[in-house]
Amino acid sequence: MDNKIENKFSWKIKELKPSATLLINKKVAEMKAAGEEIINLSVGEPDFGTPDFIKDSAIKAINEGFTRYTDSSGIRELREAICKKFFHDNNLVYTPEQVVVSNGAKHSLFNIFLAICDEGDEVIIPRPYWVSYPEMVKITGGKPVLCRFDDKYRFDIEHFKSLVNKNTKAVILNSPSNPSGMVYSEEELKKIGEIVLKNQILCISDEVYEYFIYGGNRHISIASLGEELKNLTIVVNGVSKTFSMTGWRIGYLAAPLPLAKIISDIQSQTTSNPSSVSQKAALAAIFSNPSGIAPIIREFETRRNFIVENLDKSIKFIKPEGAFYLLLKVENLNSLQLSKKLLEEEKIATVPGNDFGIEGFVRISFAVKMETLKEAIARINKLAKKYDEKS
Ligand code: PMP
Ligand code: GLU
Repeated sequence: MDNKIENKFSWKIKELKPSATLLINKKVAEMKAAGEEIINLSVGEPDFGTPDFIKDSAIKAINEGFTRYTDSSGIRELREAICKKFFHDNNLVYTPEQVVVSNGAKHSLFNIFLAICDEGDEVIIPRPYWVSYPEMVKITGGKPVLCRFDDKYRFDIEHFKSLVNKNTKAVILNSPSNPSGMVYSEEELKKIGEIVLKNQILCISDEVYEYFIYGGNRHISIASLGEELKNLTIVVNGVSKTFSMTGWRIGYLAAPLPLAKIISDIQSQTTSNPSSVSQKAALAAIFSNPSGIAPIIREFETRRNFIVENLDKSIKFIKPEGAFYLLLKVENLNSLQLSKKLLEEEKIATVPGNDFGIEGFVRISFAVKMETLKEAIARINKLAKKYDEKS
């Protein structure tokens, strides 16, 4: 008799890796608890607290007894507010029935893959990608197909075209991108849109860093490029990054009606609904004037500019146009070596690029205070110089 528990696991999770970003963050927390002083540039979460007016609305919800199950797709007021946001910010018209609120954008994405992937279905994922995309596709039985980047580290659209086949179910776009900070231009989105339309595949557009845009770049949702394209697109967004609400776990999607309906049904059979209290907090956030977060975005831009202006010349990096990450590399060291040396020799935690499908680089998050960032860049430069001299 086979009594090995692992042999009872589903084939879908046999090769599952834990989230590299969360794993490193946990390791740093343990090292700090053991008394080590580490600068944590690994996980991507805003270093600002959730604004008071958002916290107040959650406290009010608790005090008023808003503590019961809600509609599985989220309270109607919140879905209406999200529709207004889509119209105002993205020029997209959705009805509240097309919106599903979930426990974070990560959960929205997982619900999508669960709803669309059958065994053998392929989902095209442009490299470098956020660590969770390939794993989520695998858990739901689909097959992640990785697409190349071009010589500017942007989505290689010609390669994408060549990868589409009868098994392709969807392509996932993430603009601004985690981890490269790339923002897709309108021209790129149009070319991608043509391929999506020609092959009638789905397009999943992860826009969680929508407001984190620098240097005159502009966020465009691919769904806004035409009604036909919108009917094949699922837009994913959330409040975690924009309103410094990572722990509240609220994300959402807007999709063609039948897909939104089935995702709402999946949710009704699995998680019931996202936290009622967090939904009220998200409502206050989404109703607020987006200009309220402008100073935070400018602070992130100042940090980005500081990094790109102060990294040692021997360091190669991809200049981010958005989000709050930067990929950098030091000659002669691979991703793992660089990440390990930064941690052991300079006490800086980063995420190795190979977890994002970009060997040679490490990802740093600049969601840390300027003072910390200055110290971190000085230490990274010190290490780079050391290894540059060795070559
Ligand atoms: N998409 C991307 C690209 C992300 O970096 C994250 C980070 N957590 C998410 C989705 C999920 O965010 P959340 O679940 O906190 O809404
Ligand atoms: N998305 C953030 C990151 O990439 C948070 C951690 C996670 O969910 O992966 O660091």
